[in-house]
Amino acid sequence: MSLFSAVEMAPRDPILGLNEQFNADSNPKKVNLGVGVYYDDNGKLPLLQCVQAAEQQMMEKPQARGYLPIDGIAAYDAAVQALVFGAGSEPVKSKRVATVQALGGTGGLKIGADFLKKVSPDAKVLISDPSWENHRALFTQAGFTVESYPYYNAARRGIDFDGMLTALAAAPAGTIVVLHACCHNPTGYDITPAQWDQVVTAIKANKLVPFLDMAYQGFGQGIAEDGAVIGKFLASGLDFFVSTSFSKSFSLYGERVGALSVLCQNADEAARVLSQLKIMIRTNYSNPPTHGGQVVATVLNTPQLRAQWEQELAEMRQRIKLMRQAMVDKLKAAGVSRDMSFIAEQVGMFSYSGLTKPQMERLRSEFGVYGTDTGRMCVAALNSKNIDYVCQAIAKVL
Ligand code: PMP
Repeated sequence: MSLFSAVEMAPRDPILGLNEQFNADSNPKKVNLGVGVYYDDNGKLPLLQCVQAAEQQMMEKPQARGYLPIDGIAAYDAAVQALVFGAGSEPVKSKRVATVQALGGTGGLKIGADFLKKVSPDAKVLISDPSWENHRALFTQAGFTVESYPYYNAARRGIDFDGMLTALAAAPAGTIVVLHACCHNPTGYDITPAQWDQVVTAIKANKLVPFLDMAYQGFGQGIAEDGAVIGKFLASGLDFFVSTSFSKSFSLYGERVGALSVLCQNADEAARVLSQLKIMIRTNYSNPPTHGGQVVATVLNTPQLRAQWEQELAEMRQRIKLMRQAMVDKLKAAGVSRDMSFIAEQVGMFSYSGLTKPQMERLRSEFGVYGTDTGRMCVAALNSKNIDYVCQAIAKVL
């Protein structure tokens, strides 16, 4: 008997498994629509001009790499607060937001989850059905019981908003509710501003704890539009959590740049919350890495680079929209009779295509077109060269 002889093999990550299958596929026409990564029209992962310019600036004044403070680069945290809550907004001015630099959006979620487990150990966590796979795993790993609220109705091919509201109304006080601030992953369906108002009202009435996951700010309708939900929660007077990711919006996936912000009632509370978040960080990885945070802080805090970023982000957003509309048109042209216009109404990187598991399997085995078994496809990986092939393949399996 060794220490590890009883250790079980954990199940493979479904998306990474799909990637391995894709890499092993010898079909020259293969297209990977599995992973959540934005590729440009040449099928390349972009390196944004604003990022290159910031790195150039940084190289011109080379800095030694000391430890960062536990909560990260101060200018980075300030830029995140300005982006999420508004520059010079009331909560920022009154210092009632505790913000820490985190290892991507995932890191922000995990620091928040670990902190919540301390302040609210018996609370349950509700995530959307379906949700990003890691939500359930991450909050479970932090020690919570995770359940779900209805979100997507496959039969109606849209959001089950009544089901969602009913679940929120039935949740016990203190329940932590994880919400996708914009660009819902995996479905691509967001609730409307008026529906957000109802969600905020239900959460407030029931004394629930909102945790907003903002992994795609700027990928849906625009930076301000995608962030508008924050204003609604602010106006409600609730305390809430926001995790931020710059993985997609800066195309800095591997740098692990994200943040966690906790909105508190006053500056004193925020200082105490911050001190606790720092313990979570200190005992996990001590302090964050320097490079990615410095790049993002430089871009966000330099007006000219900031403008360039907004322009490049808009280009990514518009290209995704173009691909969505092209998909609707090309599916129709390929003879698909069912109404596929919902693809152009969805937002963000993903589309729940409505295709069944057997249809997705056929797409893979016969055409080398890879999406998840749930029918999720990453429309941000479509381009002018592969879209005809993908649409013809989909038309054949439908
Ligand atoms: N939340 C959601 C909804 C996501 O889709 C993702 C990325 N796929 C994340 C969080 C994590 O982002 P990051 O890569 O920055 O950790």
